[in-house]
Amino acid sequence: MTDSTKYLLEEEQIPKAWYNVVADLPEPPAPVLHPGTGQPVGPDDLAPLFPMALIGQEVSADREIGIPDPVRDVYRLWRPTPLYRARRLEQALDTPAKIFYKYEGVSPTGSHKPNTAVAQAFYNKEEGITKIATETGAGQWGSSLAFAGGVFGIEIRVFMVKVSYQQKPYRRAMMETFGASCVASPSTETEAGKAVLADNPDSTGSLGIAISEAVEIAATNDDTKYALGSVLNHVLTHQTVVGQEAILQMEMADAYPDVLVGCTGGGSNFAGLVFPFIGNKLRGGPDVEVVAVEPAACPSLTRGQFAYDFGDTKMMTPLVKMHTLGASFVPPGFHAGGLRYHGMGPLVSHLFDLDLIRAVAYHQTECFTAGVQFARSEGITPAPEANHAVKGAIDEALKCKAEGTSRNILFNLCGHGHFDMTAYSEYHAGNLKDEDYSQDELAMALAGLPKVAAE
Ligand SMILES: *Cc1c(COP(=O)(O)O)cnc(C)c1O
Repeated sequence: MTDSTKYLLEEEQIPKAWYNVVADLPEPPAPVLHPGTGQPVGPDDLAPLFPMALIGQEVSADREIGIPDPVRDVYRLWRPTPLYRARRLEQALDTPAKIFYKYEGVSPTGSHKPNTAVAQAFYNKEEGITKIATETGAGQWGSSLAFAGGVFGIEIRVFMVKVSYQQKPYRRAMMETFGASCVASPSTETEAGKAVLADNPDSTGSLGIAISEAVEIAATNDDTKYALGSVLNHVLTHQTVVGQEAILQMEMADAYPDVLVGCTGGGSNFAGLVFPFIGNKLRGGPDVEVVAVEPAACPSLTRGQFAYDFGDTKMMTPLVKMHTLGASFVPPGFHAGGLRYHGMGPLVSHLFDLDLIRAVAYHQTECFTAGVQFARSEGITPAPEANHAVKGAIDEALKCKAEGTSRNILFNLCGHGHFDMTAYSEYHAGNLKDEDYSQDELAMALAGLPKVAAE
């Protein structure tokens, strides 16, 4: 290491380009297919929903995608995010391992999601779009896009799953503070919402229904596009600011990770941390072990199938090849709302298939136990999703202890849990239940996978 990298100014630590892992993979990922024709989709098929710049990034094989200056200027509000060594957690575990974590909770909304929200709002603005419709479950994505829309002067309308809308009034208030409007889904503002309500006036909603509502608004209004906070290639690519900063910061700490750990819902915070390190390895750099941690109640990597499937419950989206539990899968209720998606991002799925990463699944109670231990030693209360990464990192550290080896463990602490304290209360009261997804329901949802000739 040179002194110049050791003493980089904070400003210089913010990457100037996003990293696209596709450029370094031994095989390209499978194409996205049109559900009607079974043929790869073209840009025109996606144009009603996304600006062209993002469609271009979705299929790009360029290693670097330059970060526009206006986006980097907004990143400067909270980036670079800190990378800490969890010394007190190491002591509490009595492990010879060194545990590092990258903390994305310092962003305007408390998670990694603004990293892509800001970029997406910018490209929409550039192409003259004035409104974006989106959905949100727990509220992390809705509030992040609300912030980004406010920055670039785009009207954001968020369809929030009704049960969350009722249970999480503070997330809703945050969206409104940033200037967005938030509607409980199912709503009477769309045909999709009305159809659900006609069937079941008391419906508490689902992410699938909220997606259908937001997509309908975008597809039927010329001035409105749609935005997604995870899963898609361009979203994962935007998140690589996390891993690129971490590479520099680990260098400043004179260390390189042996193991990387992240939690996986759609895969974006995980990809953001690990893809730049995997890229290093694929270009001849140091080896690194990579662990994806998912909830046992929604185990798309460890128990799903790698197959073409729909992105939404209503089967309206194009078909993507991913590790999936089946689009009709409805996970049992648990507190890590951000990890309740039936599929895994196609790029993360592809890397799993190529054995570049491995996956483990944990129950929520053991993850909360890990999160509470982390909070008591490090002073940060993690988001329930992030507790999965904490649990994964702690298990790696305990493995080192058992083997008497020291390894550098780096995990992504993708958000704080300040809006999720109800979940912690439930944990403290002993009310959390650990649900496994039933094998019968899994078999049924997988039997419903679309038949695709290209496979
Ligand atoms: C949305 C969210 C997740 C899950 O999404 P990924 O795309 O898998 O990162 C995880 N953690 C937090 C804090 C989130 O807000």
